[in-house]
Amino acid sequence: MIDIIIKICQHHGNLTIDKVVKQRLKKDNTIKYRCKFCLSQSHKNHYLKNKEKVKASHEKYRNENYEKYRKSSNDSAKKMRILNPEKEKERRKKGYSKYRKSTQIRQRRFKNKAVSELRDVYIRQRLTERSILKHEDIPQSLVEIKRAALKVKRIIKEKLCHKK
Ligand SMILES: [Zn+2]
Repeated sequence: MIDIIIKICQHHGNLTIDKVVKQRLKKDNTIKYRCKFCLSQSHKNHYLKNKEKVKASHEKYRNENYEKYRKSSNDSAKKMRILNPEKEKERRKKGYSKYRKSTQIRQRRFKNKAVSELRDVYIRQRLTERSILKHEDIPQSLVEIKRAALKVKRIIKEKLCHKK
């Protein structure tokens, strides 16, 4: 492959195709190339400046589009493993345990929250467990009905507990 210079970045010099990110501009559909390093830096800066906002909007997206979220995060993890074989090797050597543990903690926290707040993702999961249905197969109206039913169940359970 010949290294064709796609773009010259004022911070990172000559950039070949693997060092740029292709973006399609919405307003006129033209394609623009951006420096991968600058873009990642600007994402980082944006995150640092708006930590809570970014987290909240990610969480909102995750709740509302769980299947999509899971697929895209699996895909991007796979992509990262292919793009960084050295890092992947290192990670395998160290073992997944540390990584796995933090993932587990994060997943458990997410699950507990989803259960206690009766979030859509939990209700869809309840409605699809032990079936071939996917989360997106469940219409929102059914989710609302199930949520109401679960709420009633919880209230009854609580009352029964108080009686004892
Ligand atoms: Zn740059």
